Amino acid sequence: MIPAAKPIIGDEEREAVDRVLRSGMLAQGPEVKAFEEEFSATVGGRHCVAMNSGTSGLHLGFIAAGIQRGDEVIVPSFSFAATANSVALAGATPIFADIDPKTFNMDPDHVETLITSKTKAIMPVHLYGHIAAMDRYQEISSKYGVKIIEDAAQGHLASLNGRNAGEFGICATFSFYPTKNMTAGEGGMVVTDDAEVARMLRLLRNQGQEIRYQNEVVGFNTRMTDIHAAIGRVQLRKLPGWTKQRQDNAAYLDSHIKGVVIPFVQPGSTHSYHQYTVRVTGASSEKRDAFMKGLTERGVGSGVYYPTPIHRLQSFNLTLDLPETELLAKECVSLPVHPSLSQSDLETIATAVNEVAASL
Ligand SMILES: *Cc1c(COP(=O)(O)O)cnc(C)c1O
Repeated sequence: MIPAAKPIIGDEEREAVDRVLRSGMLAQGPEVKAFEEEFSATVGGRHCVAMNSGTSGLHLGFIAAGIQRGDEVIVPSFSFAATANSVALAGATPIFADIDPKTFNMDPDHVETLITSKTKAIMPVHLYGHIAAMDRYQEISSKYGVKIIEDAAQGHLASLNGRNAGEFGICATFSFYPTKNMTAGEGGMVVTDDAEVARMLRLLRNQGQEIRYQNEVVGFNTRMTDIHAAIGRVQLRKLPGWTKQRQDNAAYLDSHIKGVVIPFVQPGSTHSYHQYTVRVTGASSEKRDAFMKGLTERGVGSGVYYPTPIHRLQSFNLTLDLPETELLAKECVSLPVHPSLSQSDLETIATAVNEVAASL
């Protein structure tokens, strides 16, 4: 079976963990500091603050950016639950926008219609490693005076006109969950170009203190351990090569699969293919599920990200009219695109997709 996703852990990661274990210093320390400094090179030299998860990073990012109870933050409903959870955990209200059916990212035209006097921020998600319409969000941000906060959990090395994900918002958060384009076991990185926001993030992640026992604000413990940071540092060095491999795999699939809609790449953008997501058209999840079953029978794993729009999850339970979101939730399937695929795996995937799509 070709798995839908596969984290790559090698001897270097094992040695890095062992180095930390032998040091006897396990909690946040020099490895975290080095990881933050090294990650900064991927986001135009911005301040980097490591966290124990991407979700913590998003949550604390809102607090550090001054988002409060009563504020509204516009997010896509077509995303992982953490996108909206982090808004709600910060005390604000997530307002769900529809997606652009071509890019699968939040639709800036719809976002603009949702802006009210309570809107304080917009959080685009760089879904599947395809950068959101950041040029449009920058216009909207200056026109209405709202902040941009990026959910870059899937956006490692995705770019628009040479600018990487993470270089647009007042802050942006990357995730290092094992299925992401690089991992630390668990973890997140908040990046910002604002020194005050960075300082507040450092306070919030550590009980509100910069100097021990001099707590300035009420804070959390969302620190990353040196064990996780050591893994992350090794993976960060491999990220450019892995991203290139994902892009090569995607190019192969683009030119060999038929009968499903292949991913669109926005002009000027570099897709980093966290997921390679196709559309099985027909507006029915039964058809999509039959497609996936056919792939499984041919030894090809696949996944649905995401089967239920966030606004309809029990946790939010809202009735909204987001037609493009509803349609994509029924039609999307992500195929394996990870860097461990061999040429023969790619051929197996393409053959399986073509056979099954033709049979539906
Ligand atoms: C993975 C992910 C998150 C959360 O990251 P964790 O590190 O798992 O907490 C948030 N948003 C999106 C879009 C994600 O894919």
